[in-house]
Amino acid sequence: MLAISVHDGKVALEEDRPEPRPGEGEVLLAPRLAGICATDLEIVKGYMGFTGVLGHEFVATVVDGPPRLQGRRVVCDINCVCGNCSLCQSGLANHCRHRTVIGISGRDGCFAERIAVPEMNLYEVPDTLSDEEAVFAEPVAAAIQITRQFPVEPRMKVVVLGSGRLGSLVAQVLRTTGCRLELVGRNPDLLLFSEKKGIQTRLVGELVPRPEHDLVVDCTGDPQGIELAMQLVRPRGTIVLKSTFAEAVPINPAPLVINEVSVIGSRCGPLADAINLLARKQLDVRSLITRQLPLQRALEALAAAAEPRHMKVLIKIGQ
Ligand SMILES: [Zn+2]
Repeated sequence: MLAISVHDGKVALEEDRPEPRPGEGEVLLAPRLAGICATDLEIVKGYMGFTGVLGHEFVATVVDGPPRLQGRRVVCDINCVCGNCSLCQSGLANHCRHRTVIGISGRDGCFAERIAVPEMNLYEVPDTLSDEEAVFAEPVAAAIQITRQFPVEPRMKVVVLGSGRLGSLVAQVLRTTGCRLELVGRNPDLLLFSEKKGIQTRLVGELVPRPEHDLVVDCTGDPQGIELAMQLVRPRGTIVLKSTFAEAVPINPAPLVINEVSVIGSRCGPLADAINLLARKQLDVRSLITRQLPLQRALEALAAAAEPRHMKVLIKIGQ
């Protein structure tokens, strides 16, 4: 099969990678459409020391599994867990001590014609959702996770840093809470996209940082984003970090101590909630798509996704 894989820090198109054979409790999927996110771009640069097929945002068709799932369209939780360790048993299965993560850690991803995943990870996609919407389920879930970790209330002053694909999505999800929201970024064209959605935006160069926000969400993928977040959060306020970095970043945590700021790391979220939010058409994800290329041209797609002018770049794989 055709697949995009990472070996020794090099990404390549493989023409004849063997098809995966589903293990016990696993099903075989044919990915239809996949999304490229910042994590993929970090992995290509060496993040997680990953080896194998890249990709973790996707919508797929079940091609080999239980009859009730056969031919169904599904999205998939990326964390594959044991169910037995102390973390799984205490309700923290996303942090399972023995977990593998699709396309990120110890398990092949979705930029391929076939992928094997645990059946328990699947969520069926309703007919009312197109592939172009369903492919956003994973990043939307990651955005929803912020509200799970920090209950956002309507009066709260919230700022999202980063006008790229994740920041725009997080802003759209946080807007559904009714909070007083601003999106801050450095790319005027990308900010305009969110402005058209009715989200208040500001160029970072025009921002006068004041420590007055109840919640600051950093989606910049830039160490300077963390510095700015520390200048914007109010005393006893909260910073949520969404970015991961391939390399260590230097920060001075003194302002966090002095201002008694809470810092929350935030990763994956509830897929079922994401599907519901998308199905209620409360988000506009389609217009985030700036490019779509077939799997044969996935390397080109990865290069495009690294350009600041692109929001979401998708890889078309199958029907
Ligand atoms: Zn476990």
